[in-house]
Amino acid sequence: MTKVLLTGGAGFIGSHTCLALLEEGLSVGVLDDFSNGSPEALRRVAELAGLGALRQESPGRWSTGDSGPADLTLLRGDVRCPGDLDRAFADGIGAVLHFAGLKAVGESVAQPLRYWDVNVTGSLRLLEAMGRHGCRTLVFSSSATLYGSTDRVPIPETAPLQPINPYGYTKAAVERMLADVAASSPGWRIARLRYFNPVGAHPSGRLGEDPSGSPNNLFPYLCQVAAGRRPRLDVFGGDWPTPDGTGVRDYLHVMDLAEGHRRALAVLEAEPPQLLTLNLGSGSGHSVLDLVRAFETTNGLAVPFSVVGRRPGDSAVSIADPQEAERRMGWRTRRSLADICRDGWAWQSANPGGFGEGESSLDG
Ligand code: NAD
Ligand code: UDP
Repeated sequence: MTKVLLTGGAGFIGSHTCLALLEEGLSVGVLDDFSNGSPEALRRVAELAGLGALRQESPGRWSTGDSGPADLTLLRGDVRCPGDLDRAFADGIGAVLHFAGLKAVGESVAQPLRYWDVNVTGSLRLLEAMGRHGCRTLVFSSSATLYGSTDRVPIPETAPLQPINPYGYTKAAVERMLADVAASSPGWRIARLRYFNPVGAHPSGRLGEDPSGSPNNLFPYLCQVAAGRRPRLDVFGGDWPTPDGTGVRDYLHVMDLAEGHRRALAVLEAEPPQLLTLNLGSGSGHSVLDLVRAFETTNGLAVPFSVVGRRPGDSAVSIADPQEAERRMGWRTRRSLADICRDGWAWQSANPGGFGEGESSLDG
């Protein structure tokens, strides 16, 4: 197969998926503006995949060269910029995995236009560039946030989409745009993957989530409390209609999610053109307190917490019905909550400051 382009490939999910694809022998190009991702993550990806070092070829472009079984090229650029996209497609791209985007719900309420611009305009520009370069295979990072505060447990793909914040609206808009594009001409192969709660890290401890500032999400926050960087975890609500009163979510290991992308790409390439829409989750729910206990037991650590008021916009329970992903691409999660806690802590404890360095970590 020709090269796969990962927009946002320097971020949390993109970097883990990049490694999975390189290990499969695929060549990968990454386009990322490093607004929330690190070139150091990709330097480590190249190292873990057994490729040569990422060397600078020209300003804003690094490559491992083609000495290994696969190669990795990194371009600093913005997915909203047609010129940057044209540079990325000049490498002969056969398929795109579109991770680039903004993802913090609270921030999206405060800065809605920024979210519409990056998430929606970015996707629009990408689709235009794909049209210019004759590339019609795309995997899009969608989100369970589309389902909003539904009462359905578990949630099938056929559940109504009722987002409740600007971030969710932008994901719904891009899903709609992709359906319209797929319907407009017959050759498109598109997967819309709705992630539930991706957490954990690569088992090497070299790659993981590196949130800037105070983490918004439970798992990275809990890891920082365990590391002593924050005094305690605030548990948002002890009065939800759940077995222990705390919110229940469907947590999946980021390496299972990476594998889901590899499978989606393989299905799109093997089957006739189609629009595929799949939930990626484990199908099991865990409460906040379940996760705290699993983390403490797995890692032999205490995680101080206190129960505080509910977070606005939260729902009680969100669990995927993942049967369609198993039926369509033979995918299901294989890693347990204990694996998530062990790998997440291996990353956090070995990298207390995250990736730390910027582009200076790359050669040249
Ligand atoms: P992330 O922030 O770690 O990665 C996103 C990457 O995109 C970053 O490297 C960032 O620098 C890059 N980026 C942002 N704007 C860009 C732009 N204009 N041009 C080029 N690059 C840009 O996020 P993630 O957790 O890896 O999420 C990846 C995708 O998955 C996002 O689209 C997100 O909405 C979606 N998603 C994430 C979650 C989650 O819990 N992490 C859940 C559901 C869906
Ligand atoms: N949560 C919490 N404390 C935190 C962050 C999150 O108790 O500091 C809870 C939150 O209310 C929800 C669960 O943990 O029940 C997962 O939240 P997260 O933000 O990680 O994911 P999402 O809400 O997007 O599913």
